[in-house]
Amino acid sequence: MAAKKSTAKAGAFKGNKQSLPQKPCAACGRPMTWRKRWRNNWAEVKYCSDACRAARAP
Ligand SMILES: [Zn+2]
Repeated sequence: MAAKKSTAKAGAFKGNKQSLPQKPCAACGRPMTWRKRWRNNWAEVKYCSDACRAARAP
């Protein structure tokens, strides 16, 4: 069996994920990363998911 050695470099993702803005969810507090669907209303996005939005809504 030939074991192929793959070297996983730490920090290989440089410049990809890090460039996206983040902010905490208003409901659960988990950091949410910018998504394409939010590009038009990122400033208004407060919750990471519909579940969190529903949890806050009456
Ligand atoms: Zn949330």
